[in-house]
Amino acid sequence: MSTIESNLQVVRARIVAAATAAGREPGEIALLAVSKTVAAGEIRAAHAAGQREFGENYVQEGMEKIAALSALPLIWHFIGPIQSNKTRSIAEHFDWVHSVARVKIAQRLAEARPTGRGPLEICLQVNVSGEQSKSGVAPEAVRPLAEAVRALPRLRLRGLMAIPEPSENIVLQRRRFASVRLLLEQLNAAGFGLDTLSMGMSQDLEAAVTEGATIVRIGTAIFGERNRA
Ligand SMILES: *Cc1c(COP(=O)(O)O)cnc(C)c1O
Repeated sequence: MSTIESNLQVVRARIVAAATAAGREPGEIALLAVSKTVAAGEIRAAHAAGQREFGENYVQEGMEKIAALSALPLIWHFIGPIQSNKTRSIAEHFDWVHSVARVKIAQRLAEARPTGRGPLEICLQVNVSGEQSKSGVAPEAVRPLAEAVRALPRLRLRGLMAIPEPSENIVLQRRRFASVRLLLEQLNAAGFGLDTLSMGMSQDLEAAVTEGATIVRIGTAIFGERNRA
């Protein structure tokens, strides 16, 4: 068995254990393999081990892999910071975007989405750590952003994404993830009908699953340590 295959098995087992402990169906949680800095050959190995969904942070790098692997039935998620001049490439090549935090970016994605491709699946990135440096929309600004995105053509608003600052403290991890879930519940109480909470990485997936994650984004635990940040 390849290292990637055995790593995938370990990660899937962690998801099942966390879901079961929380009284959730493991099948409610999708595993997104974060393949930034990872070569196409390793993505092929992950695909051979049953993985279908991959996340990329850098547009150029992601587009190269999407082209190189176009013969495989993969689903590509863009999860990195979005520059205005990259919105066309993202809208044309990816299936999901997790990191929408500004109306202007959403408008550009909507304008550039090819009509033949079906809607671009969108999550709004929320800043739940309150750090100045972290990207994402402030919790109090989520509702107006959600209203604006919902009104745009060729986009389908699916839910919220968050990257809380790393913490070893599971209580703190859970509190941050719970605040994202609460925001989603508030939107749904207002009729948004959202089904996606994209949260949890290699270090904190258990806390995220406990608090309702429906997509966990896992890089290191599948592909190993990255050399560049
Ligand atoms: C790199 C990255 C991940 C994966 O992080 P790991 O700690 O390697 O699992 C998840 N989400 C985003 C947005 C990332 O940039």
